[in-house]
Amino acid sequence: MADDPFENMLAQMDRAEEYADVDHGVFERLKSPERTLKVTLPVELESGEVEVFEGYRCQFDSSRGPFKGGVRFHPSVTQREVEALAGWMTWKTALVDLPYGGAKGGVICEPKDLTERDLERLTRRYTEGIRRMIGPEIDVPAPDMNTNPQTMAWMMDTYSMYEGYSVPQVVTGKPLEIGGTPGRVEATGRGVSLVTERLFEYLDRDLSDASIAIQGFGNVGSNAARLLDEAGANVVATSDVTGAAYDPDGLDVAALGAHVDAGGLIEEYVAGEYRGSASGSTWDDPDQITNAELLTLDVDVLIPAAVEGVITADNVDDLRASAVVEAANGPTTVAADKALTERDIQVVPDILANAGGVIVSYLEWVQNAQEFSWPLETVNAELERRIGSAFDKTVEQYDTKELPDLRTAAYTLALERTAKAHEYRGLFP
Ligand code: GLU
Repeated sequence: MADDPFENMLAQMDRAEEYADVDHGVFERLKSPERTLKVTLPVELESGEVEVFEGYRCQFDSSRGPFKGGVRFHPSVTQREVEALAGWMTWKTALVDLPYGGAKGGVICEPKDLTERDLERLTRRYTEGIRRMIGPEIDVPAPDMNTNPQTMAWMMDTYSMYEGYSVPQVVTGKPLEIGGTPGRVEATGRGVSLVTERLFEYLDRDLSDASIAIQGFGNVGSNAARLLDEAGANVVATSDVTGAAYDPDGLDVAALGAHVDAGGLIEEYVAGEYRGSASGSTWDDPDQITNAELLTLDVDVLIPAAVEGVITADNVDDLRASAVVEAANGPTTVAADKALTERDIQVVPDILANAGGVIVSYLEWVQNAQEFSWPLETVNAELERRIGSAFDKTVEQYDTKELPDLRTAAYTLALERTAKAHEYRGLFP
């Protein structure tokens, strides 16, 4: 990867240091993870072959509470990437004021090449590999890229088998039937939609008919698209690995969602398969464009909702969106970030924009601890209250301290909270 995500995270911290009320010694301490475990995972595949996978769990900082963060299955996972993502989880949980630290896990694999049975075995073997370092009060994994409620069910079951009793609160993002919460699957997308609405209020602009391009139509991108569409915005483009669908008049988000939920690809959708035939749709045919073209569309809001490092020094000058809402973790490199600030393009940083997922994970964990379950309305109201309050605090910090951008404002808040926890707790021994 051209831009190392860990270096990117450190550079974001450095940009905020001059404005943050944080002791330099504590700040230096916050630049390295507490620990990272690397595990080797031999798995007998359904084909009969034994494949040896590699996985990680990084626990970045626990000064504010148990470690928290997702697990991703992806071919481009590296130790550095997992450590960067664990750092981002630390700043995210601090910014939205959850009583957690930050962690992340990852397994190097291509899930598309694995059967369901292979994925189950890999998940169980990975869970066994990291089980000594996780636990309801220690470190609580959750879904991330290419992992889902089923993955969490296998993790929960594997951990519970070793403990000898069911431990639902060892992971969040579980299926409802085994202690999941209503609203968790769509929570990150809902948070993205909520902060976009707040951003428009803050900028005194009307969201209705605002044009939105969303890179990525996975769990986060598709739910954000659906909810923004419902909020009156005009989703004009979205994409997957096969490319992007674009219609300046707006996409039929519901039809696209149904197509992708049924396992369809964007290029098939653009080619006309499924679309219209089922619904007798009167929507125009979208054009097929590339992911790179999507990023430079002339839209009101660009929402990167896929991988890290997509807005870079190479394409930032071509960006024409007036605002960026970072649904993905780490989509903007530091060089691109500086250019966006200079061009006055508002960026809602990832640690705020995509915090809806971990907020509802926290609500799931709390319900598990209470052995009580809340209705969807209660979960959604609490999500809105928490992410809304974090948004308001971030813009207040940005305005009152006259900071260069919203990311710096979010980082100063997160760093100050984490550093305070370190100062109160002091040094052991
Ligand atoms: N993977 C999600 C994130 O990056 C959610 C983590 C969690 O719920 O613990 O924020």
